[in-house]
Amino acid sequence: DVHAGVYILKESDRELEAMLISARETALLAQREGQNYMICSQGILELIARERQLQAGLEQAFLRKEFLLYLQFYVDAVTKQVVGGEALSRWNHPQRGLLGPDKFVPLMERENMISRLDYYCLEEVCAFLQDLCSQGVETFFISCNVSRATFAAGDFAQRCLGILGRYHFPRELLESVSVKDMGQTKANMEALMDSGISVALDDFGEGFTSFYDLQKYPVKGLKLDKGLVDGALTPSGRAILRAMIQVGHELGMTILAEGVENDSQAQALVDLKCGVIQGFRYCVPLPDWEA
Ligand code: C2E
Ligand code: CA
Ligand code: CA
Repeated sequence: DVHAGVYILKESDRELEAMLISARETALLAQREGQNYMICSQGILELIARERQLQAGLEQAFLRKEFLLYLQFYVDAVTKQVVGGEALSRWNHPQRGLLGPDKFVPLMERENMISRLDYYCLEEVCAFLQDLCSQGVETFFISCNVSRATFAAGDFAQRCLGILGRYHFPRELLESVSVKDMGQTKANMEALMDSGISVALDDFGEGFTSFYDLQKYPVKGLKLDKGLVDGALTPSGRAILRAMIQVGHELGMTILAEGVENDSQAQALVDLKCGVIQGFRYCVPLPDWEA
């Protein structure tokens, strides 16, 4: 398992150390991308510099509260009434403007900082729900994304409940998660569910999550990945969705679907008895105050 970064000498090059650093960083990028080698180009150097800039600003971002809570509504598949929302983080970067999670979530996962974002986001969500309840709205649920590393930690349930304890609202808040390792994760799920929080398996049908997880974990909901929704209008895609939804129903789960972009997809999901849908057809993610 070897990953190399190849630095091609230019006539102007003088600093050996700088060339070695560029080659080494390119090798790390090759490793991340699962490639045997990469050739260090101007584009790669710029990418590495941009990532380093983001990485250097992470600590300060938390202190200065640069992470913003955005919410994307869920609607009831049949009535199209708003029933809840998903919390999605954005980074209001002082130099680079509003950044989506694709720019910083993988970076934070690599830097072992993702738990900090997850707890930060949970805290914002709790404050939002408390505010909503004080205005008399008590039926709107919010799901939080929790990375696998966060969920698998020994103190996860304790920390979540610690945050929840500081806010007052009904506990049917939905947590969404994609998981890989058993053990502690299962114990954490049980502890959260005991306190009235629902746990749903995110990105179902994509990457790490599978039918087998449904047997392993006591989850209440299943969130179908956008890739499955994209296939809803083809005979094979529909057959796969039908099977997944049926299994979910037989296990007594709520079925949610993400990435619904048009009425035909929504109708296909209604026909297949998917309960809750979300996507650009209904609403893009909005800043919390606007939501
Ligand atoms: P996800 O959980 O799969 O969230 C759905 C993503 O699909 C969101 O992207 C959303 O904006 C996008 N989306 C929603 N409807 C549509 C649609 O109709 N069409 C298309 N093309 N896209 C749609 P976003 O906001 O960029 O988030 C990306 C991922 O970042 C999320 O994927 C989630 O896994 C992760 N994420 C966001 N916030 C947090 C966080 O606070 N903690 C952790 N651990 N992960 C987070
Ligand atoms: Ca999600
Ligand atoms: Ca997804």
